[in-house]
Amino acid sequence: MTPERFRALWSSLLPIGLDRRTGGYFRYGWSDADLACREWFAEEAADRGMDVAADGNGNLIAWWGSGGPAVLTGSHFDSVPNGGAYDGPLGIVSAFLAVDLLRERGAAPAGRIGIAAFAEEEGARFGVACLGSRLMTGALAPERALALRDGDGVSLGDALTKAGADPARLGPSLPAVDAYVELHVEQGRLLSTGEHTAPVGVASAIWPHGRWRLDLTGEGNHAGTTRMADRCDPMLTLSYAILAANKEARLRGAHATVGRVEVTPNATNAIPPSVSAWLDARAAQAETLDGLVEAVAAKVTERAGRDGTSVAVTAESVSPAVEFDGGLRDRVAALLRAPILPTGAGHDAGVLSAHVPTAMLFVRNPTGVSHAPAERATDADCAAGVTALADVLQDLACR
Ligand SMILES: [Zn+2]
Repeated sequence: MTPERFRALWSSLLPIGLDRRTGGYFRYGWSDADLACREWFAEEAADRGMDVAADGNGNLIAWWGSGGPAVLTGSHFDSVPNGGAYDGPLGIVSAFLAVDLLRERGAAPAGRIGIAAFAEEEGARFGVACLGSRLMTGALAPERALALRDGDGVSLGDALTKAGADPARLGPSLPAVDAYVELHVEQGRLLSTGEHTAPVGVASAIWPHGRWRLDLTGEGNHAGTTRMADRCDPMLTLSYAILAANKEARLRGAHATVGRVEVTPNATNAIPPSVSAWLDARAAQAETLDGLVEAVAAKVTERAGRDGTSVAVTAESVSPAVEFDGGLRDRVAALLRAPILPTGAGHDAGVLSAHVPTAMLFVRNPTGVSHAPAERATDADCAAGVTALADVLQDLACR
């Protein structure tokens, strides 16, 4: 694969969901941008004579070949708010180009190869990460999914209906496949520095991680007339919670982030009556993660007592540690002569790995930045990723 060929197909997807002011992407599940990405997917599949199957959960699979055995590849189109271009779409674009490469090599699947586009992987709209793959594998019950609402109060059912899907079809839909291989942009700098330096790497594991919602309640009042000693200010309690999360994570070699806050009523001259914030926490070990969240909860509860506020901590989604299939990982790493590295980020591959032998390929990201407009990979490295994915698919799926 040449960098120019990669760039040609990559460019066709780039304008969709781009905010030209910030250079970031807004591709929420079932938004107009997401639907435009799905149209792009259908066109690329049609160009290659691949049939597209849509399950009841908003996931798409373009199939090459028929019958079994089957190998699945792919990723997701949706983004975080103001996200980068590569997180997700790189895996889908690379998959179509890998199919092109295999055909040029005269290779064909013994059974079939599927390219998946999973719905709402980031959970940016409905709050549950890997929504499509969790529904597909039965990890999330349809009843729970139907109760989800976005920030505007729109239910998942209504969003599906508006997109032309039938919410009654939500539920398990995983096709019989022998393996899943997801190519993804690296979300760190392990491939850019030190012993792991290479354009493409293979994932060993995904850290356990989760999202916890902090609801802090106090007393709304006037910023000018309320004496400092008389305040019950939940924003004060939250600021302490954010510092505590940072400290507890550092102490444990873990990661903790508060990147989203909702303030009511969000007025400059009012002490807010309530504040909600979301804690994203990740660690190499489940016990470390549990200890981190417990320590933050205990400290913020103690602080709330001093501030005259109250706090409720609710787990919104927690993903256990994922160790990718060792046999498949070693086979892929040996085939590609690629380094093996862990990641702190969750992926559809992590969800599928509980059901199907799964491997992940990472493409070098020189900035190390992800979930932000500065996310990058060079065309040369992306082309190397396509070649690597084609090599893996040929090894696993072709005659
Ligand atoms: Zn992703």
